Amino acid sequence: MSLTPAPLSTWSRALAPSPTLAVDAKAKAMQAAGEDVCSFAAGEPDFDTPAHIKDACAAALQSGRTKYGPTPGIEPLRQAIAARYAAEYNLAVTPNQVVVSPGGKFSCYLGILATCSPGDEVIVPAPFWVSYPEMVKLAGAVPKVVLCDDRAGFKLTPAQLAAAITPRTRLLILNSPSNPTGAVYTRAELAALVAVAVQHNLYILSDEMYEHLVYDAAKPTCVATLSPEAQARTLVVAGFSKTYAMTGWRIGTLVAPAPIAKAVGELQSQMTSNVTSFAQYGALAALQEKEKTTAALATMMTAFDRRRQHLHAELNKIPGVSCLLAQGAFYLFPNISSFGLKDQEFCARLLDEEKVAAVPGSAFGAEGYLRLSYATSDAIIAKGIGRLGRFCAKLRK
Ligand SMILES: *Cc1c(COP(=O)(O)O)cnc(C)c1O
Repeated sequence: MSLTPAPLSTWSRALAPSPTLAVDAKAKAMQAAGEDVCSFAAGEPDFDTPAHIKDACAAALQSGRTKYGPTPGIEPLRQAIAARYAAEYNLAVTPNQVVVSPGGKFSCYLGILATCSPGDEVIVPAPFWVSYPEMVKLAGAVPKVVLCDDRAGFKLTPAQLAAAITPRTRLLILNSPSNPTGAVYTRAELAALVAVAVQHNLYILSDEMYEHLVYDAAKPTCVATLSPEAQARTLVVAGFSKTYAMTGWRIGTLVAPAPIAKAVGELQSQMTSNVTSFAQYGALAALQEKEKTTAALATMMTAFDRRRQHLHAELNKIPGVSCLLAQGAFYLFPNISSFGLKDQEFCARLLDEEKVAAVPGSAFGAEGYLRLSYATSDAIIAKGIGRLGRFCAKLRK
């Protein structure tokens, strides 16, 4: 008998590990070893969860909310999420259209599983959030990546969308505000894309994880509000991680027409069951104690906006670098293609030579860019940008 086991599954072998988590892990390991690293790799707010949310969770834990609950989420939380969509977007949602899942990431995956069969094609505009193509592959479906570069403001056009559609296309993934670019589509831009999707009878997965993190005059659009046809085919994913600095809690939300939400809940019932019971009471407090939550979010946004403007201005002062001023999320996505280095090599050398961590654009399907997260302190941004400038000057010699 052989000591060598059979090869692992096609699922395991097809998967690319998350490059963003990998860069972040390497930077953290270097920091732990005492190195002075400036990391722009973080994919989460550098703030703690607001106290009233933690208190509500702790109280629920103390009072014995420690049992299994309904798979799609505790009833008061589903009600509060439905009410939030009505209040924020004037969108009529009933609690049975809401599924609470262990993280928005899992909400996305369930949404893909609920709508796509093996061999179906899914349109993924690039730069994309790293998990979309991998999740599509895990569903046996086929990602069709459409590149939208900085000249297009990193936005998909209706013509590009129409050209990418085939008889096998099932689903369009949208993500506004975007991770990694911070781009925010206008309502009119989304309406034009949705019209094409409706015409071809596609489902739409709209990842609105950063809906509350918008700057200047930008406004988030809930894609389900664009038309009754849009609402009938859109799965809206959002959550608590980014808005309320709750990444470690693992609570995401999906809102969809009731039959789709039911399918999503049934998939979840065989995979994870309910989100941690007492954690859901923390999420409930985030929605119910609105004044405190709004104040905490405002504090975070003031810091993010200041850092965004500072980082953007400093990046554009570096010869050879150009960067759009993103209007959402907490990332900038500068173009570094003028240096003639592959972005992976650029990032590897930047980390080795200057101890600055950034994620290469190719991880998001767009070669020639960096993703810089400004969910980090002003001091680290100032120090890191100085080092990046020095590194770029060296490359130009
Ligand atoms: C962070 C993120 C998510 C998922 O967040 P969770 O931590 O799983 O709730 C989903 N989509 C995008 C674009 C993200 O950046």
